[in-house]
Amino acid sequence: MPAQIGVTGLAVMGANLARNFARNGYTVAVHNRSVGKTDALLDAHGDEGDFVRTESLEELVASLETPRRVMIMVKAGKPVDSVIEQLVPLLEAGDIVIDGGNSHYEDTRRREAELAEHDLHFVGVGVSGGEEGALLGPSIMPGGSKQSYEALGPMLEKISAKYDGEPCCTWISTDGAGHFVKMVHNGIEYADMQVIGEAYDLMRSAAGIEPAEQSKIFADWMKTSLSSFLIEISAEVLAQVDAETGKPLVDVIVDSAGQKGTGRWTVVSALQLGSPVSGIAESVFARGLSSQRTQREQAQEILAGHETQVELPENFVEDVRQALFASKLVSYAQGLDMLGSAASEYGWELKLDEIASLWRAGCIIRADLLDEIMKAYADGQKPENLLLAPAFAEAIAEAIPAWRRVIATAVQLGIPVPVFSASLAYYDGLRRKRLPAALIQGQRDLFGAHTYERVDREGTFHTQWSGDK
Ligand code: NAP
Repeated sequence: MPAQIGVTGLAVMGANLARNFARNGYTVAVHNRSVGKTDALLDAHGDEGDFVRTESLEELVASLETPRRVMIMVKAGKPVDSVIEQLVPLLEAGDIVIDGGNSHYEDTRRREAELAEHDLHFVGVGVSGGEEGALLGPSIMPGGSKQSYEALGPMLEKISAKYDGEPCCTWISTDGAGHFVKMVHNGIEYADMQVIGEAYDLMRSAAGIEPAEQSKIFADWMKTSLSSFLIEISAEVLAQVDAETGKPLVDVIVDSAGQKGTGRWTVVSALQLGSPVSGIAESVFARGLSSQRTQREQAQEILAGHETQVELPENFVEDVRQALFASKLVSYAQGLDMLGSAASEYGWELKLDEIASLWRAGCIIRADLLDEIMKAYADGQKPENLLLAPAFAEAIAEAIPAWRRVIATAVQLGIPVPVFSASLAYYDGLRRKRLPAALIQGQRDLFGAHTYERVDREGTFHTQWSGDK
């Protein structure tokens, strides 16, 4: 029987996705550049379903039913181009090439256009959930033509995570839209992790609450609007004791956060789109600063702090929870706003309710909040910004006093809370009647005759400044 899908690239992600397809009843042809990985997969898991072992891309393509579906799961970047180049001459018009790796959406746009010239469909698929998600059900964000989704979508939906029985997979939009949405998901993930880190630092450094105790606080927060995968795993990390030293594990881990690049991509794209994702950007910068270990070591010796001792607000932990919730909400609002800007720029029809719905399970940012976000955009509602949706405007209004108290406390104590404060600044920037941008426009007109608009008349204006000749 011909295979329904082929997977090439059988490192962790490819192998687990291939197994997921097979466990869901599909016949899966498997291929890897070096045949050892193919055999390792089949030796360990060949009994989980119908696999077809292939040793070359020719064999892989020959084993597939038409239209052929070939999923590339090799290292992102040049290897993807190399595999595409080898595949194209082997395929026929109407076949579908799927890239399920972490490719940059601009690469996906380019590849989609190149393959369209050969009458081939190219589907860039954002897959979130890591190794475990790939095996048990990831959140899946496919781009590409609608026609290709008809042939591929049902299979992806079947292997995806489910939320109340609903698949966390839906067609996103054309060309690079799937990878773009996955990238923004990762940007939100960076911010979400950073705000949790800031909450932890505040409770530890300002209130002296030890990790084990904080673990219980995080577990309690799972019963609130903060309930999410990241809060759940934070409780687990904070409860962990290092077997060697008996210290909390978090105290033994070097405080330099790594990054693979998707957060950075989000911020670079946001800058290009003019999208103000300040909280997400601060979370990427915070990882960067954490990694500047030499500078940090010297700064600890040289730079003054002049912290002020402050009396902590009575319900400090609850204040921190509210500040965390409000800041997290802003990160989601910024990410979704960025999706709106990209939709206009690239002509994508992004449905924000559907996107929020497929992040509800399988992916790292899965959170109860996403169900509410989905509702804010459901039934054709289109708030200009998530924060303007009535439910969220109300929720954030309740959190503001605590949010301001927490940030003021952090500033006085010299505890950096970059995403808490950038998020509040964004919120205040949105709601403020007049911004100092008016002065900036005046400056621009003075030094560069860039003109300005007036509040009382249509048109563009230039002032004869004293230095004008
Ligand atoms: P990886 O380590 O990124 O790549 C290894 C695979 O790529 C191997 O199968 C390797 O073949 C193959 N490969 C490398 N260069 C090649 C080339 N020039 N031609 C053909 N094959 C080549 O694998 P991974 O960790 O499973 O990740 C696969 C993709 O998923 C990547 O894009 C990665 O960024 C993404 N990813 C996503 C998540 C997620 O949560 N969504 C998590 C991890 C990874 P050989 O065995 O022959 O060397």
